[in-house]
Amino acid sequence: MTPSRWLKELDFAADFGHLQKMQLISGTQIASEVIEECKRDIAALAGRGLKPGLAVVLIGDDPASRAYVRSKDKKCQDLGLHSVKVEMPATTTQEELLAKVREFNADPAIHGILVQSPPPKHIDEAAIVRAIDPMKDVDGFHPVNVAKLALEDSSGFVPCTPLGCQRLLIASGIETAGANVVVVGRSMIVGKPMALLMMAKGKGGDATVTVAHSRTKDLKTVCRGADILIAAIGRPGFITAEHVKEGAVVIDVGINRVEAPGTEKGYKIVGDVAFDEVAPRCKAITPVPGGVGPMTIAMLMANTIKACRQLNS
Ligand code: NAP
Repeated sequence: MTPSRWLKELDFAADFGHLQKMQLISGTQIASEVIEECKRDIAALAGRGLKPGLAVVLIGDDPASRAYVRSKDKKCQDLGLHSVKVEMPATTTQEELLAKVREFNADPAIHGILVQSPPPKHIDEAAIVRAIDPMKDVDGFHPVNVAKLALEDSSGFVPCTPLGCQRLLIASGIETAGANVVVVGRSMIVGKPMALLMMAKGKGGDATVTVAHSRTKDLKTVCRGADILIAAIGRPGFITAEHVKEGAVVIDVGINRVEAPGTEKGYKIVGDVAFDEVAPRCKAITPVPGGVGPMTIAMLMANTIKACRQLNS
C-alpha cells in the first residue's frame, strides 16, 4: 500500500470511529413507540365508549399540503380514529371557512381540528386559528394554547413538531437539564415553541436556551456554543460542520425539496443540516428523512387523544 493510500485508510478509519460513536436518532422508531402508546390509549377510551375524532381542512390544491393531509388521514385510519377530511376549493371565502370551523367546534364526534397551512392568500389565517375551540386546537396555534405553553400549563396543546423534537431527545436519553440549547429559527410553528419547551421546568426541559434567527450576529459562533443544536430554518444544508461543536447533539427539523436529476421523482428531501459533514462531529443527530418528520404526525395523534380525554373528563 502506498503511503498516501495508507493515510487515506487511516483517515477513513478515524472517521468511521466517530460515526460508530455517533448515535443516529431514529424518528421512525421513536414515532412507532408513540403510536403504540396511542393504540393503548385508544383502547382505554374505547372501553369508555369514546373514539377520538380529527377533522382536517384543506383549502386549495397545493401538492405538499395535499400530501400532508393525506398522510394525517391515513394515520388516523390506521389507528381506527374517526377522521374527517374536508377539501375546499381555493376560492373558499373566509366566511365559508369560518362556518366549517364552527361546525366542527360544535360536533361532539370531533375532538381535534386543524386547518392545513398555508391557506390561500385571501384567507386571514390568524382569524381562522382564533376561531378554533382551544380545547380542539391540536396544532397548538391558538393564543390560549400559546399562553398555556408559556405558563407551563400541561392542559394546553403544544405544536406537534417541537413536541416531537422534545420527545426524540427524551427517548434518546439526551439530558437537556443545564444543557446549552441553540434553536435556529423563531417561527410560531417550530422555533418559538421549541425554545419554550426547552426552557420549561422538568423532564426534557431545564435547558439554557438561545434563539437565533436571520438577524443574529456571528451565527456560527452562537451555534458552536450549543450542546444541543436545533435547526428549523428552511434552507437546505445551511448548518455545516463549522456551526457544530465536537460532541453536540443536532436535531434537524428542516424539510426541503431539492432537485435530484436522474431520480424517479426528480427531487429529494433534505434537512437544514449538511448531514455528511456534520454527523461525524456529533454525539447524536437526526437524519432527514426519518428524523423529526415521522414524530410530527405521531404527536398529532397523541394530541387528538389528549383532546378527546380532556373534552370527556
Ligand atoms: P419559517 O417560518 O420560514 O422560519 C424560518 C426561521 O429561520 C425564521 O425564524 C428565520 O429568521 C430563520 N432563518 C432564515 N434564514 C436564516 C439565516 N440565514 N440565518 C439564521 N436564521 C435564519 O419556517 P418554519 O415553518 O419554522 O420551518 C422551518 C423548517 O422546518 C422548514 O424546512 C420546514 O419545512 C420544516 N418543518 C418541518 C416540520 C416537520 O414535521 N419535520 C414541521 C414544520 C416545519 P427570521 O425570523 O429572522 O426571518
